[in-house]
Amino acid sequence: MKQRIRKILNDPPVGTTLTIHGWLRTRRDTGGFSFLEVGDGSSLATLQVIADASLPNYDSEIKNLGTGAALEVTGELKESPARGQAVELHAAAVTIVGGSPPDYPLQKKRHSFEFLRQLSHLRPRTNALGAVSRVRSHLAHAVHTFFQERDFLLLHTPIITTSDCEGAGEMFQVRTGHEKGEQGHFFGHPAGLTVSGQLQAEVYALALGDVYTFGPAFRAENSNTSRHLAEFWMVEPEMAFCDLAGCIEVGRDLLKYLIADVLEHCPEDLQLFNSFIAKGLLEKLTAVVEKDFVQLSYTEAIEHLQSSGRKFDCPVRWGIDMQSEHERWLCEELFNCPLIITDYPAALKPFYMRMNADNTTVAAMDILVPGIGEIVGGSQREERLELLEKRMTAAGLSLSEYDWYLDLRRYGSVPHAGFGLGFERLVQFVTGMGNIRETIAFPRTPGSAPC
Ligand code: ATP
Ligand code: MN
Repeated sequence: MKQRIRKILNDPPVGTTLTIHGWLRTRRDTGGFSFLEVGDGSSLATLQVIADASLPNYDSEIKNLGTGAALEVTGELKESPARGQAVELHAAAVTIVGGSPPDYPLQKKRHSFEFLRQLSHLRPRTNALGAVSRVRSHLAHAVHTFFQERDFLLLHTPIITTSDCEGAGEMFQVRTGHEKGEQGHFFGHPAGLTVSGQLQAEVYALALGDVYTFGPAFRAENSNTSRHLAEFWMVEPEMAFCDLAGCIEVGRDLLKYLIADVLEHCPEDLQLFNSFIAKGLLEKLTAVVEKDFVQLSYTEAIEHLQSSGRKFDCPVRWGIDMQSEHERWLCEELFNCPLIITDYPAALKPFYMRMNADNTTVAAMDILVPGIGEIVGGSQREERLELLEKRMTAAGLSLSEYDWYLDLRRYGSVPHAGFGLGFERLVQFVTGMGNIRETIAFPRTPGSAPC
């Protein structure tokens, strides 16, 4: 019977004969025996295979097996006398499915993540990147479970878009290369890759209630930071009959749910990160689940920064777009927990965010987490037609192009709200990875798009 190693180790069927498929991590020979550590990607832990000289291909093949070779092994699972492992597989047959010569680039020694980025096609075979992939997959599943359990409808918003909303300048253009003037646009209109599914999600929220999208977003900004990608995935719920407080509640509950879920289901992978990538990670994640988030307004945040006695590179005054140095000080030094910052100056935020009664701030909320900064950005949307038109005109947008968006305010408009959670930033927070480029399989950044 063919089995995954994770299953075997979790509930070892000692005494049975089974077959595994995986790749050789290390080989050690002692007189007449070889110990083969085989991993199949289902777990961090490998299964130890014992192959002895009675196997017909022992001298010709097994004794010379290189790291990375693909194997099929059939044998009996026995309790192991060795310390640190419960079981081992006594091979009755070892088939070399695909050999791996000595120039295999991932020999045993540890490699830097920078080096591994040049090997995007091989790096998922390393412990750390394998663990990230499993955690990421698990988190994606948990995102869907969270929303489906709460009766949100999954909406697939378009990847090619003709509405550039906030995206002016940040949008990748989509072209055929055969256009002849304005008339020649494939879609009859300039098009680009979406920067967010929000506007389309609003359409469906105002028809079906609570919806969410979970898909790729693209930003053509030239940010070479450890927290930005040109292609990333976003989780975007949009809720009808919902105000800012309701939106904050969903955002906070979602983060707590996702982190509790990986703590429960991925303990082995998280332990690896805790030991080798980010000391104290487990404690930090547990605190996010158990402790309250601190909520404060932008104005209060500015006051804290001003009375901090700190000298920031970017001087603090009301109205500034808080930089990562400010966010980090608030989040990591002052409060040391996730922060929900609300009511930003309207001038800093997009046209669709709802104007507050003070006529200067909007009903926005960002959630910041230690080590990352902004992980969630959201708001209550402007549902009042006149005010929305005013903001759009001020932002230089053409009202006629957004007639469909304005229709949502003409017919059956309701208070509604939503946010975007950056999925890679979430993976980065959960794994403690220093750079976002390790949280997605094939990172796209300025100057680099491997595979
Ligand atoms: P930042 O100020 O950090 O560049 P933003 O305010 O431009 O982010 P939003 O438009 O609010 O981002 O997008 C919602 C969420 O998507 C952000 O909170 C973040 O988690 C994520 N996100 C935004 N831009 C990127 C990017 N370039 N790479 C990865 N994640 C991103
Ligand atoms: Mn934002």
